[in-house]
Amino acid sequence: MEDWKRLHQIPEIGFHEYQTSGYLRSRLESLGFEVRSIAGTGLLAALHGSEPGLSIGLRADMDALEFNNEDGSKTLCHACGHDAHCAMVLAAGAQVARQGIRRGTLYLLFQPAEETICGASAVVRDGGLPHLDGLLGMHLRPKSELPLGQATAQLMHQATIPMTVTFYGKAAHGARPFEGVNALSAAAETIVQVDRLKIHTDQSWSAKATNAHCFDNMHNVIPERCSVTFDLRAQSNALGDQLTQAVLECANQSGEKVGCRVSCDKVHGYAAEYDPGLVTVCEEAIREVLGDVAPPVHTLGSEDFHAYHMEGGIPVAYMGLGADLVPGLHSRDMRFNPDCLPVGVQILCRCVGRLLELK
Ligand SMILES: [Zn+2]
Ligand SMILES: [Zn+2]
Repeated sequence: MEDWKRLHQIPEIGFHEYQTSGYLRSRLESLGFEVRSIAGTGLLAALHGSEPGLSIGLRADMDALEFNNEDGSKTLCHACGHDAHCAMVLAAGAQVARQGIRRGTLYLLFQPAEETICGASAVVRDGGLPHLDGLLGMHLRPKSELPLGQATAQLMHQATIPMTVTFYGKAAHGARPFEGVNALSAAAETIVQVDRLKIHTDQSWSAKATNAHCFDNMHNVIPERCSVTFDLRAQSNALGDQLTQAVLECANQSGEKVGCRVSCDKVHGYAAEYDPGLVTVCEEAIREVLGDVAPPVHTLGSEDFHAYHMEGGIPVAYMGLGADLVPGLHSRDMRFNPDCLPVGVQILCRCVGRLLELK
């Protein structure tokens, strides 16, 4: 609880979690963990047992959110509960350290920049992650999904793919449009085509333009360069790939029609794909602590956590913890009942106890 209060006071944006990282490092070292940096401000802490065995990781995200104020200033705050996740994983590590591991290794992974959907990929690309037999995560949930006293072993995120398509045309004076290639026309055509997309009407997905921007342009000049941002959502990774491909085809066709070159930048937030064995471990741990386990929660939100499995090949599971959280995640006056913290710690400890042999 003290750790949570301290972390709550030092909200920092993704890849800038310097104070958070410093605080966690000193706490972990005092608990006897071997600690090293990973993906910049991230930390990987290890506690080895007396004998070899499974390598199991608990992952917490570290970053906070930035809000714009009316006067133009910005406010940082932990509106997604990542301070709580760090505190719970730290407390679970402390409890396991007190008890001692007989066989295997416990890794605590404090990951930067979850909110950008880039942090987990950065950890995988860092190359410093050891072989893991399982990695577990947990997120506080809104009261409407799970009230305090309930938890699910399967928080099912959908795939989220933010994608920016840029069209390159040729600038010309507005009086001589025939001398130019209008990048904005290709962008507009693409937006209309994406709105008309029809794939898999039996599955849940959406693709829509959320922003458009012409670069360095005046009102009387045919724009040379224009980019459109699309937000793609899909209930599975296969559908996410198909949707990405379909939007790209719309962009390429529109680009070709108008005569523009097309480039695309995207970030891939994967849908949840869990290891059945780890899910069972989480279910048993939740049942032990709370008496019952809530069914899988299908959330419209996304998480970069799934990159550990999709890009790193690590078996994973991700739990949702009831916290009486209101009015919702990412609301700047988000609050929750801190009584959920010891519940989360106990669930994580029981998971570790089931996967590693403790003293
Ligand atoms: Zn968030
Ligand atoms: Zn979050």
